[in-house]
Amino acid sequence: MYVGLDVGGTFLKGARLDAAGNVAAQIQEPIRKRTTEELLAQLAAAVRALAGSDDAGSIVTGIGVGLPGIVDRASRVRVAPNVPVLDGLAVGDELKRLTGVGAEAANDANAAALAEAYRGAGRGADNVLFVSLGTGVGAGVILGGRIWSGASGYAGEIGHIQVVQDGVKCGCGSWGCLETVVGIPGWERRARAALDAGRPSSLASVELLDPKTIVEAAFDGEALALELLDEAARALSVGIAASLSLLNIERVVIGGGVANAGPILMDRVVEQTRLRTFPQVFADCTFRLAELGSDAGVIGAATLAMLQLESPRR
Ligand SMILES: [Zn+2]
Repeated sequence: MYVGLDVGGTFLKGARLDAAGNVAAQIQEPIRKRTTEELLAQLAAAVRALAGSDDAGSIVTGIGVGLPGIVDRASRVRVAPNVPVLDGLAVGDELKRLTGVGAEAANDANAAALAEAYRGAGRGADNVLFVSLGTGVGAGVILGGRIWSGASGYAGEIGHIQVVQDGVKCGCGSWGCLETVVGIPGWERRARAALDAGRPSSLASVELLDPKTIVEAAFDGEALALELLDEAARALSVGIAASLSLLNIERVVIGGGVANAGPILMDRVVEQTRLRTFPQVFADCTFRLAELGSDAGVIGAATLAMLQLESPRR
């Protein structure tokens, strides 16, 4: 059996997968992240709980961990802004030391990408781009069936492709990044700017200008909401088209909370991507909404462990 752990800023999730890849047991608990030792102890305890034994080493074949940060190919965290005790930590080596089981770690969006590629909306495709639309824009690139993490773990950051030449400053240091337009704060900022400029809209009476509210207004045909939605779709398509041109991706999977908008967003993204992509590259690519939801992280982490055992990368 394989164990997948998904370390978030608030919760630790875990799952045990059988050899066929089915979820056999799951846990979720508040993350304990005051010290590195406390967090590692919690991860090791979760492995033992999912194994149903204090001797995890004799039962668990491999451990995979999804982490909210940049993770290099040696399963070491480069930086984790929301869980600082992870900074610099060789999570794979430490978990192996504590449990006696081989452990691999990856960025959480990369793990989710792997899950969708093997067990979700990317099934059947070797080359998958996964884009997760939430507060930020997470992404993962799967090439030849494996996570492409790049030289030091930073690959796949589609959210930081510049889509507006003189756009607003981004947390990464650049400006006009995709994330500044389609991250949740980006929706709110764009809506607020239009309303402050005197644009008449039913959105003016709304307290919380989040994507859900804006998309609901767009469903009702509200003009400003439709413009905000079109702007998001155009920005996304610039990033996706650049990725398709660079990598000849065969499946684009869009997930995360904002993707709950469904076809009203997806249809626009596909059409705008078509306009910006070589016809053959576009024709060879299919677009799907993610299937695994919030389980993608743990399933992907376990899949990571499974792949490493079946065909080691190094
Ligand atoms: Zn950026």
